[in-house]
Amino acid sequence: MIRVVTAQVFRDELAKDKKGQRAIDAFVDAIQQYVDEDEDDRSVSELMDWAYLESWLLTFEQATKLALKAKTLDECHGILKRASARGQKGRPSTKRVPAIKALVYQKELGWTWPKLRDRFCPCGKAKHDSSCQDSLRAEVVMLKRLLKKYGVSFP
Ligand SMILES: [Zn+2]
Repeated sequence: MIRVVTAQVFRDELAKDKKGQRAIDAFVDAIQQYVDEDEDDRSVSELMDWAYLESWLLTFEQATKLALKAKTLDECHGILKRASARGQKGRPSTKRVPAIKALVYQKELGWTWPKLRDRFCPCGKAKHDSSCQDSLRAEVVMLKRLLKKYGVSFP
């Protein structure tokens, strides 16, 4: 079941969450809601890819919820396998999850690009630069395009 929170409560939770995990949870919920309303396989799987690529970020509860929506056994296996990899050491970070966080923090808390970059850039350098910012921005643009394409209202 999707937890309903007011916009202000959501913003407070984001502000308190240093790692931005709350933003990812909200994203997964939004996709979940969309899946409930739309049975089109292709659109769902493309959106799911965004949520699953870094699926170690999914809790078992979220993974179970999503696995129940799987249309094939293979898809179901894939989801559960990814959830069990949660917290694996040395797993490289992609730019997708940071993009989700950046999008949410920009929209909800009005963070600037330098602030978003310093908090969420996954490059691992001691000091983030303008190329970090550019690639984060580019990824956010792609994410926005995908959400718009499928009419998912998020954040
Ligand atoms: Zn960086």
